[in-house]
Amino acid sequence: MLEEEYDINFFYENGFIRKQCQKCGSYFWTRDRDRDTCGDAPCDPYSFIGNPVFKKSLILHR
Ligand SMILES: [Zn+2]
Repeated sequence: MLEEEYDINFFYENGFIRKQCQKCGSYFWTRDRDRDTCGDAPCDPYSFIGNPVFKKSLILHR
């Protein structure tokens, strides 16, 4: 539990906010306040293609 809280603080301190995908309901971290989808296909195939390396690094931090 403590380790998870540490990770959350890390995201907040780096400007990330936690949002819920409006298509599949998954929670995800993003720096884009206007984003409404998790970025995974088929929810949001275009932005997923645009930044695959960045998304991978987020998964590793979970
Ligand atoms: Zn989604």
